[in-house]
Amino acid sequence: MNEYKEKLLSELERIENERKILAGTDVPAGAYPEAPEVPPIEDDYDRAEAEVQAALERMEKGTYGICLKCGKAIAPARLRVLPTAALCLDCAEEEEE
Ligand SMILES: [Zn+2]
Repeated sequence: MNEYKEKLLSELERIENERKILAGTDVPAGAYPEAPEVPPIEDDYDRAEAEVQAALERMEKGTYGICLKCGKAIAPARLRVLPTAALCLDCAEEEEE
């Protein structure tokens, strides 16, 4: 298992845990004292989960780490910080403009 896959899987786990906090089940009171009082919208979890799933799919297909837009390799430093990155830094910056 490569390090990015590990990160993606732990990210999925984190999303699931936060969902449980939202739903108020399976989590003992006070287990997550730092849980936000106003939980993010459920849609945010769906989107975050979809991003992780898409990254895992690219891994299966062997296209993980390749920019969807320009086809160049995404810098490993970027993937370490953002394992779900589908675009290289240049393209991501362009998209934001
Ligand atoms: Zn690119």
